[in-house]
Amino acid sequence: MTIYTLPKLDYDYKDLEPNLSSEILELHHGKHHAAYVDGANKTLDNLAEARESGDYGALNKLEKDLAFHLSGHVLHSMLWKNMSPNGGGEPDGKLAAAIKESFSSFDAMQSQMSAAAMGIQGSGWASLAWDPLSGSLVVQQIYDHQGNVGSATIPLLVLDMWEHAFYLQYRNVKAKWVDAFWNLVNWDDVEKRLAGARKTDLVLD
Ligand code: MN
Repeated sequence: MTIYTLPKLDYDYKDLEPNLSSEILELHHGKHHAAYVDGANKTLDNLAEARESGDYGALNKLEKDLAFHLSGHVLHSMLWKNMSPNGGGEPDGKLAAAIKESFSSFDAMQSQMSAAAMGIQGSGWASLAWDPLSGSLVVQQIYDHQGNVGSATIPLLVLDMWEHAFYLQYRNVKAKWVDAFWNLVNWDDVEKRLAGARKTDLVLD
C-alpha cells in the first residue's frame, strides 16, 4: 500500500548551488529520501500483516523501523521546504519576535543550533522546534531521525547532519555545510510553520 509519496521539490537540483551541489541534492532527494518513503510504506504493510496473523514476534523491530523511516520522511520533506534559492538572512515579523523571546537574540539561537549540529555524535539533525507546553521555541539535537526529541515538540527548521547531506561537497569540514545551510534558509517557510504550530497549543492545556 502506498500511504507516503516522495514530494517534488519547488526548485531544480542545481538551484541551491553553490551552497549545496546538484549532485548531493539529486542523490539526497532521489535516493536517500525515496528510501525512507519506501521504508515507511513497507513497514506499514508489515504491521498490517502482523495484525492479520496475530504474530507480533517482530513488533519491536517494526515499531523502530516505523519511527526511523516515517521520521526520515517527515524531516526530509521539511528540509526541502526550509531551503530556497533565495534564502538566507534573518527572519522578521512574528518569527523574529518569537526567537528573541525564547533565545534573547537571533545570534544566540543561531549559535546554539549550529553547535547542536556540529556536536552530533554519529548521524542526526539539529532543529528549531516549537514546544506547545511552554509556548516557546527550543533547539533540539536529533539522533538518527527520531531520537532525543521532546514529546509533542514540533520541528519548524531542520538541518540534516548525516554525512550524505554534505560529504561529497564539504568532506569532513562540517562547519562549512552549517554555514552554507544558513545561506539557504527560507525564513518565510519557517514563519508559516510557526503560525501552524501555535494552533496546537490547545491540545496540551
Ligand atoms: Mn538526509
